[in-house]
Amino acid sequence: MIRKKENNKNIDLKTSIQHLAGVGPKKATVLQNVGVTNLQELLYYFPRRYLDRSTITPIAKLKVDDNATIVGKIISQNYVKTRKRGYYQVLVGDDSGHLKCVWFHGVSYMNKAFKNGDMVAMSGKVEFFNGYQFIHPDYDSLEKDEYSTLNTARIIPLYPSTADLKKKGLDSRGFRRLFGKIIGENEILATEILPVEILKKFSLPNINEAIIQIHFPDSMEKLKEAQKRFKFEELFFLQMMLCVKGKSIKLNKKRFIYDSAGELIKKIYEKLPFELTDAQKRVVHEIWDDMKSDRVMNRLLQGDVGSGKTIVAFLCSSIAISHGFQTALMAPTEILAEQHYRNLKKISEPVGIKVSLLIGGQKAKVRQEILKEIESGKAELVVGTHALIQESVVFNKLSLVIIDEQHRFGVIQRNEVIKKGLHPDVLVMTATPIPRTMSMTLYGDMDVSVLDQVPARRGKIITKVVDKIKLPAVYDYTKKQLKEGGQAYIVYPLIQESEKMDLQAAIQAYEKLSSTVFKDFNLALLHGAMKSEEKDKIMHDFRSGTIDILVSTTVIEVGVDNPNASIMIIENSERFGLTQLHQLRGRIGRGERDSVCVLVERKKTNTSIRRLNVIKSTINGFDISEEDLKLRGPGEFYSTRQHGFPKMKIADLIADRELMIEAREEAQNILKLDPHLRRDKNKIIRSILLENYSEYMEFVNVL
Ligand code: ADP
Ligand code: MG
Repeated sequence: MIRKKENNKNIDLKTSIQHLAGVGPKKATVLQNVGVTNLQELLYYFPRRYLDRSTITPIAKLKVDDNATIVGKIISQNYVKTRKRGYYQVLVGDDSGHLKCVWFHGVSYMNKAFKNGDMVAMSGKVEFFNGYQFIHPDYDSLEKDEYSTLNTARIIPLYPSTADLKKKGLDSRGFRRLFGKIIGENEILATEILPVEILKKFSLPNINEAIIQIHFPDSMEKLKEAQKRFKFEELFFLQMMLCVKGKSIKLNKKRFIYDSAGELIKKIYEKLPFELTDAQKRVVHEIWDDMKSDRVMNRLLQGDVGSGKTIVAFLCSSIAISHGFQTALMAPTEILAEQHYRNLKKISEPVGIKVSLLIGGQKAKVRQEILKEIESGKAELVVGTHALIQESVVFNKLSLVIIDEQHRFGVIQRNEVIKKGLHPDVLVMTATPIPRTMSMTLYGDMDVSVLDQVPARRGKIITKVVDKIKLPAVYDYTKKQLKEGGQAYIVYPLIQESEKMDLQAAIQAYEKLSSTVFKDFNLALLHGAMKSEEKDKIMHDFRSGTIDILVSTTVIEVGVDNPNASIMIIENSERFGLTQLHQLRGRIGRGERDSVCVLVERKKTNTSIRRLNVIKSTINGFDISEEDLKLRGPGEFYSTRQHGFPKMKIADLIADRELMIEAREEAQNILKLDPHLRRDKNKIIRSILLENYSEYMEFVNVL
């Protein structure tokens, strides 16, 4: 609620923005487009940055390459015609000098943006071209009085805006006017939504104080406190949502109880051609502990490429199977599903487990047969792709769902398989090693097991970054290895299967290589657009050694296993992501011989050099993903929407990771004492979750 200072008329925070003085119907519409519908949401429309004396550089003190902000007056502006392309030029001056600001794009828009004499703030990178200049600076108009008070301790908030908002007068200055009216003329009376103990413990300002300070900071110190409060708040509710979600899944009672681990697991174990690593043994126990409890398992198994996740999953599935239940194993590609099917069949048949494969490309007759097996329960371990989530797939008694390479699936697909069972146990596996703070958020609702050990490698992996002109030498080396019985992968970038040009390039390269350099060898081409039977045959021939070189797109990135392949040449390696390169390289180094991974560089940039160096210097997936995260930022690293949680407004999942850990601890503590958030003092948390987070909590039933 906010209270008018003079006449004590109260306005509810839920009041629609169009009823606020200062917001007409036009402004209301554009605000709604950016998700602001009521007063409360408006107050949470935070500045993107702030301007104050300490952040402004006098024009005379600018240095080339600095990122700087200047504040001054528009002196002149004009369109400059050149032979190549024209540009819009604005001259800004302060007491110390003049600076050119240049726009090559949006000229028709820019020539309406300022009037001569306007006060502006411009931010950008200082460049030198006939004098100092900014190209496409970030700009904000200031009021005359704002300008004159900047020399005092005044801090001016700069608000995010869009072209639409600007058209209706809501540029940064427009927002300041609006907030000046709302906060300046009314007394804010928002209800506190964080527990008082937390505010005290972390010295956070209360909600009303924080709202004022984030829009009208008295000092940098007060501003920091307000920002910290809202970051904490955001992270706290995010973590609360994740913990509640995790709890609620686990509160689901099973319809059955396993009384023992069953006979099968021992039999399989005895027949294994290798000893399990300690990590594998530990993780099998962690999973078994979950499986035998009367609550549903919701566990993430994280393990680097080659750490042996599949066998762990299989051993656990045998527990379910020996009690007469079914297990579904879903993989992201047909190649991987087929490989799992083939490998698991080898170890299943001797102990009498019936494995079935269900993928998209099967003939109707085969498919009908398999669907019948699944429905009758004859198929005990069902391996498949997302074909498993189709409506026609009906399980008889599905008690365990395993999702391989989980990051390849969206939440929806994950939930769809789960729905095929009656509160089945869920094990999701990923080879993408996720930095702890990220996994806490992405998988905050799950228990985590880590395979932190890779079975002893017999051969080494050597990684080389090679310029394209060295390719002949690489090919010579490859030929030598092939003659000694080795096999190789040559990988072309085809990040999205729909990119026709990339596919064309891969096909041409394949044709050229097989008719020239490698004409004495057997080559095959593999890409995602091929029919599944064809892919299957090629993989089979590659594994059996009939094919020497597999020329492929990134379809082999996940999981493909041929221990005899010891060479991998990755073309245009600078176009791949770090995690992707790591996954690809994981296809070699699986057998006796030493392996070589050649990263062919075609276009060098500073970042590509840095990135390829990371791959060269380590084979540890965790280190690589930390670097990837640093180089790309979390937004690109993981799409938050895919993982089913809201976009952050003020908190940064990486920069604020410490705060996130604290927020998570607080959330857990509260839930420990009050799992359903029914106590009076927690009711507000409950109502915020239900109100703002319900779309992210599909299965939640504890609130
Ligand atoms: P990932 O964790 O990448 O999915 P896989 O499950 O495909 O790894 O295992 C990689 C290879 O290592 C497979 O050929 C598998 O048979 C083998 N493997 C698994 N566990 C062990 C072990 N404890 N010792 C030796 N080899 C193992
Ligand atoms: Mg795997």
